[in-house]
Amino acid sequence: MLKLFYPTYYFSHAWEITPEFLRAQGIRAVLSDLDDTLTCHDSQELAPEYAAWLARLQAEGIALCILSNNAEARIRPFCERNGLQYTPKAKKPLRAAALATAERLGAKPEETLLLGDQIFTDILCGKNAGMRTAAVPPIGRKATKFIAFKRWVEKPVWRAYFRQRKEEV
Ligand SMILES: [Mg+2]
Repeated sequence: MLKLFYPTYYFSHAWEITPEFLRAQGIRAVLSDLDDTLTCHDSQELAPEYAAWLARLQAEGIALCILSNNAEARIRPFCERNGLQYTPKAKKPLRAAALATAERLGAKPEETLLLGDQIFTDILCGKNAGMRTAAVPPIGRKATKFIAFKRWVEKPVWRAYFRQRKEEV
């Protein structure tokens, strides 16, 4: 039952997802969450390893767009400074914005990866849209009360997920 919420892939950092890996999986486009996935919640800073990773994906022909539930005022300065496309107010886990964004990038849902740190927002959105999903642990410690609540609800899913991974090794 909890398996319904498992991500397809799990990485310790977004920048570990290489273009080679994506190509081998038949993935042509990445829709990435911003807050706590690429930078801390509400931060405008982009650490060098993340900046290098975003540049490398795009240089190697992987289409990329930030897909965020946050407001345009938060997303736009960050994305403009870093040359990134963006979809604000995405209403994840609903799938409409994810599907429209993938289409804009010229990728089918099955060729698209949805990357994020929250199961009931990002991962569920990718699943609802028929995309593959990659989860990363949240970068920052600062969280709103609502996010802290969602992380608390996520706990049993993560516990079951990591228990199963340990058994598979
Ligand atoms: Mg997030």
